[in-house]
Amino acid sequence: MKELKDYVVTIPDFPEPGIMFRDVTSILADAEGLKLAIDSLQKLLEGIDFDIIAGTESRGFIFGMPLAYNLHKPFVLIRKKGKLPRETVSETYDLEYGQATIEMHTDSVKPGQKVVLVDDLIATGGTIEAAAKMIERLGGEVVKMVFVMELAGLNGRKRLEDKGYSVDSAII
Ligand code: 5GP
Repeated sequence: MKELKDYVVTIPDFPEPGIMFRDVTSILADAEGLKLAIDSLQKLLEGIDFDIIAGTESRGFIFGMPLAYNLHKPFVLIRKKGKLPRETVSETYDLEYGQATIEMHTDSVKPGQKVVLVDDLIATGGTIEAAAKMIERLGGEVVKMVFVMELAGLNGRKRLEDKGYSVDSAII
């Protein structure tokens, strides 16, 4: 039987020379892969008490939204700068070259709410750490971070676990 990792395609030199890009959209292109991905992520949330699922643009939306729907929880969008229409909170973080800014609506998380963060992949952990900081500035608590997969060697998981976050991936 095919495992989730078998659906991931590695593209060399994308988006820049030297980078091995893990393409998770090939999981979505197969009905069995799609079901396996959502079921596997959902399993990681078993027994966890939370109020909201938040996903980061854009693949965090794809994998986070079905979880929110299945578990009957609200879904919050964490977007790239300049996309959200109402009052936002933002966080700027370092990329390998340069910086990026992400935003969420200030009213999307209320003080005391427990939030699960979802993204497709963890590399350095910078994106999800910035997302967690925004949630915490709004008074929310990040109770879990879940990913379809992690890139070994970049220490993203360690960076987050060292800060006290609980991290899990469908493909380790
Ligand atoms: P980080 O902030 O952990 O360094 O990078 C993770 C973010 O970059 C995620 O939002 C993820 O979608 C994207 N990303 C970085 N490298 C890859 C990759 O090889 N494959 C995919 N699918 N996404 C990547």
